[in-house]
Parts: sequence; structure tokens; C-alpha cells
Amino acid sequence: MEQRTAFVDDDDHFHDECGVFGVYNHPDAAALTTLGLHALQHRGQEAAGVVTYDGRHFHSHRALGSVGDNFNTESVIDRLKGPMAIGHVRYSTAGGTVMRNIQPLFADLVFGGFAIAHNGNLTNARTLRHELVERGCIFQSTSDTETILHRVATSEYRKVLDRFVDALRGVSGAYSIVALTRRKLIGVRDPMGVRPLVLGRIGEGWVMASETCALDIIGAEYMRDVEPGEMIIISEDGIKSLKPFTPVPSRFCIFEHIYFARPDSVIEGKNVYAVRKNIGAELARESHVEADMVVPVPDSGVPAAIGYAAESGIPFDLGIIRSHYMGRTFIQPSDTIRHLGVKLKHNANRAWIKGKRLILVDDSIVRGTTSVKIVEMMRNAGAKEVHMRISSPPTMHPCFYGIDTPDQEQLMAHRMTVDEMAKHIGVDTLAFISHDGLYRAVGEQSRNAECPQFCDACFTGEYPIPLVDKDGDPGPEQLTLLSES
Ligand code: AMP
Repeated sequence: MEQRTAFVDDDDHFHDECGVFGVYNHPDAAALTTLGLHALQHRGQEAAGVVTYDGRHFHSHRALGSVGDNFNTESVIDRLKGPMAIGHVRYSTAGGTVMRNIQPLFADLVFGGFAIAHNGNLTNARTLRHELVERGCIFQSTSDTETILHRVATSEYRKVLDRFVDALRGVSGAYSIVALTRRKLIGVRDPMGVRPLVLGRIGEGWVMASETCALDIIGAEYMRDVEPGEMIIISEDGIKSLKPFTPVPSRFCIFEHIYFARPDSVIEGKNVYAVRKNIGAELARESHVEADMVVPVPDSGVPAAIGYAAESGIPFDLGIIRSHYMGRTFIQPSDTIRHLGVKLKHNANRAWIKGKRLILVDDSIVRGTTSVKIVEMMRNAGAKEVHMRISSPPTMHPCFYGIDTPDQEQLMAHRMTVDEMAKHIGVDTLAFISHDGLYRAVGEQSRNAECPQFCDACFTGEYPIPLVDKDGDPGPEQLTLLSES
């Protein structure tokens, strides 16, 4: 999976991309969680954490950096005792990467320990935080997730589950959460089910994970997706499902299919790789151009390029070779270094490209940095024509539901028309998949304008969940911890 370009901006909170994992009733819960997080590493590479419970105590290990770098010794895993565990990988913007933001978050509440790992982003976190601080809550992190913890802590209900439901009913935004108490593993998705969460079985135990690729790695059997608005509770009494929220039509994030999820995962019954190939085929039908080869921008452009090549009959070839040894550490907030980052990552396969007409296939254009560099690289390597095909519609709006995107002003498609983009990038032609083409590729007949089947706000600007903090008055900024490292 693509090593993500860092979208670093000055605003360093409430912007997370994450993966979550949980195990109930397995002697190797911590080891399994670590492996699961490893498979979810593409969802976040900046920090990782695991919390376990051994029947008496909670144990936790949280660290900045990748899973492999931090959960690589027996002593770490041995310390994380117990048959129940949850884990989290996180990718945030640079400034917000402080230890105290690393999940799972844990608190000792009146009913006992409560650990929580969240994928998504709350759109009223600042508003809630303001209310909670006024009531005397003392926040330890700058993470939106902590508002849930305080709402659980201060809920007037007695039982853990009632408190958790009560807490979530006041929350707006996208969330797929796994939580751990002394007796329960709980998984829950927001009513629209924006982010994925699946349920699996391993022996006598249970597993929950952001994606099925994390079940595969530990040999767990996929049971089903946790449904939008569903809360699954696993305890000594077995497995229980609640639907505690007012039902609404689901709006799964279509960008998970385009880029974010791993291609070997199955989401809502659809193999991500197959969907990406379909998008490539749709693109070939929608915007055919004569050329000598179809070249993916590795790795994220590969499945769509395969689909494009198969549909068009133009050979698929590796015209760009990707270095797999470039860590994210190389990418820094300045533009100069960001440009350098692209060079470190990709190199032209010169001998193969020279004199050829290329169709470059990539999944998205965000700032445009990657495309500019790649096209220049292709031209320098002697390409005769360079055509670009993008397997998403133009990204014109930021995501507020858990995918890290830069400010709208920095989105190339917000600032320019497709023709202007083509000129700026330096391609002979540029085309994006249409909205309907994308919907066809995921198995729909077309996009239902009345009630779209997916969340596609980054392409359409139609935000299905209210942007409370952005549109309202969220109260004074209270995140004075931000400068701490
Ligand atoms: P840019 O250079 O800013 O146009 O970035 C585009 C590239 O970044 C695409 O090729 C994607 O593979 C990748 N990308 C798209 N969305 C994201 C995201 N939310 N976070 C990190 N990388 C992304």
C-alpha cells in the first residue's frame, strides 16, 4: 500500500486516519492485536498502542512510530497480559503527534477501567469539549476521542453500556470504535457507518478490526461487518447486538474503496482490489486515449491501471519503480522537502519509457505535488506523450470524517479547472472518473442524487453529517497543550 504523503498543516488536532483492532478471549490477545495492527499499518503510521486486561489489571503500551518499531520484543508483548486487548494505529498531522494523543485512551472510571480506540473524526468535538471543560472535566489530550471518555465518565446512567450509548448519542461525526472494560469488548459504528469495522472469530475468541486484512493475518474467520449504527458487545454471556441510535441511511466512505483500505480487504461484501480494477475499466471506457502503455503510479494506482489496461487492450507496464525503503520520516512540512520526498519514492524506468505514449493512472490528485513530479520524471525519461487518468473524481473539499486532507485552498481541484490542472501538471490530457462511473464501479447503477449511497463529500461537498464545530460557534480554543512535544 502506498506510503502516504504527509498532509501537514498548522492545525494539528482533530485530523486523524486510524485503524482499530480488538480481541476477546484468546491467550495471545496482545500478540494477535500487534499482528492485526501490523496489517492495518497503512491506516496510520505515526503511533501505535495496545491496552490489555488480565482479569485484575489493565496494561498498556503506546509509542510514537510504527507497530514493527515498537512491538518488536517479547518483553513488550509479555507485559501486555490477559485474554482481552484493543489496539490502535494512528496517522495524524505532524504537530499533533504527542504521546498523550496516542490511543487507546484509558481512564479509571467509577465502574472500573475503560479503554477506547477510535477511527474517524468527531465534528462536534470542540463544542463538546467546551461544555465538558465548563463542567470541570480536565482534558489530558488534544484528541477528539477524549470527549467520548469524559461523556462516559460524566453520564448519569449507572451501567457501562448505558453510559457509552448515552455518550455516543451526543456525539456527531464518524466513528468506528473498539472499547474495552473489565468484562466486555465493545465495537460500535456511527449511524451512517462512515468508517469500516468487521467482526471475526478465532477459536473460542472474537476479533474486531477496521479491515478484513487484519483478520487474515491472524487466521481469524470473517463473520460479518459491524453494521452502521450497531453496537456489538462481547462478554462472558456471549455476543449481543444493539441498535441504540435512530436509524439513517448508511453513507460509507467511498474513498476507502478508492485509496484508503488495503486492496486485499473485503468491505461490505466487496473486494477492494476488484472495485479498484472496476474503476480502472470505467475510466478506460469514459476517457479512452490511444497510447502504447498503461503505467500505474505505484502502489496506489496499480489496481486501477490493471483494470484500465484490461479494458482498453493497451499493455500494462511498470514505467515507474517505487522504493519501498522510504519511510515517512523523510517527509517534512516544507514544500522543498515534500518535492524531494516524491523523488525518493519514485523513479522512472527510463529504458522502457523512452519514445512511448503513456497513460499514467493514479488514485487521486490532492495538492498535485505527486503528479507534477511524476509527469516531469516521465518527460525527462523521454516519454513521447503523457496522459493522466485518475481513479477518483476531483478532490475539491476537505474530509471532516477521519481522512487527513489539507485545507481546501491547497486542494488543486478546488483552485483549478481540469484543463488548468492538465496544463499545470504538464500532461497532454487529464481525466478523472465521473461520479456515476465511480458508483458503477462499486456496484451501483448510478449515484442517487436524492440520497447518495456513499459519503463522497470530498468530491461533491455534500457533507452528510453536520459540521457542528466548523459551521457553528464551538466556543473558545482550549487546546493550549499543543506546543508540547
Ligand atoms: P498530492 O501529491 O498532494 O496530489 O497527493 C496525491 C497522492 O497522495 C495520491 O497519489 C495518493 O496516493 C495520496 N493520497 C491521497 N489521499 C491521501 C491522504 N488522505 N493521505 C495521504 N495520502 C493521500
